[in-house]
Amino acid sequence: MQREVGKHALIQQLLALGVEPGAVLLVHTAFSQVGPVEGGPRGLIEALREALGPVGTLVMPSMTDGDEVPFDLNATPCRGMGVVADRFWRLAGVRRSDSPHAFAAAGPRAGEITAPHPIEVPHGPDSPAGRVHALNGQVLLLGVGHDANTTIHLGEFMAGVRYRRAKRLAVLRDGRPSWLEYEEIDHCCRNFVLVEDWLDERGLQRRGSVGYGDARLARARDVVRVVVEHLRQDETAFLHPFGVDEECDEAWTSLCS
Ligand SMILES: [Zn+2]
Repeated sequence: MQREVGKHALIQQLLALGVEPGAVLLVHTAFSQVGPVEGGPRGLIEALREALGPVGTLVMPSMTDGDEVPFDLNATPCRGMGVVADRFWRLAGVRRSDSPHAFAAAGPRAGEITAPHPIEVPHGPDSPAGRVHALNGQVLLLGVGHDANTTIHLGEFMAGVRYRRAKRLAVLRDGRPSWLEYEEIDHCCRNFVLVEDWLDERGLQRRGSVGYGDARLARARDVVRVVVEHLRQDETAFLHPFGVDEECDEAWTSLCS
């Protein structure tokens, strides 16, 4: 049995990694890799907020697990984003955007980050991830790799990639459930791990440990910049060769239609 990492030690690890007090910080976490820590998932959230201080803003993904039921910002869980994210939006003082592609935020910039955003463009400039980027925020990956890094989708949007996948979401219209169909920049996303080397080559990523987990920290602007550079050379850099998985195949097919 590993010993719990105390809250003070977590804060020291976060600051040593380069988390900036007063900044905007978007965090993706797999708690199974980070714990055990004092206070469990809530203790990790408290450590993140204390490292950021009263002027800092903590942001986490909070999107729905299922597209079959209309999103309810007060009730829809986000277990797919991990137990820390699913605990975060439920805490007092945390705001959650009203979208199946929701993010949650706490701190002085939380209101603007979680303001309404268009469903059909989940991770464009006018989205929580786009606003974190505009505010020169940092992206922290705790126990997860870049395949969990939503900000890379913002880079794809900025690069103007043409591939799309058809999406279908239950929404409420005039209080009644109905389907919204749209096209989204998407694929299996496993090749987002390429961004690891793209950042490292330029010295734009810091690594360390938080709790027992591997931690990676980069500026949202640096993530977007290296993604745009690579996608402008090869629009399909993230897509698996045709025939490997259905999601990437659908993205390839959209380029040919
Ligand atoms: Zn793929």
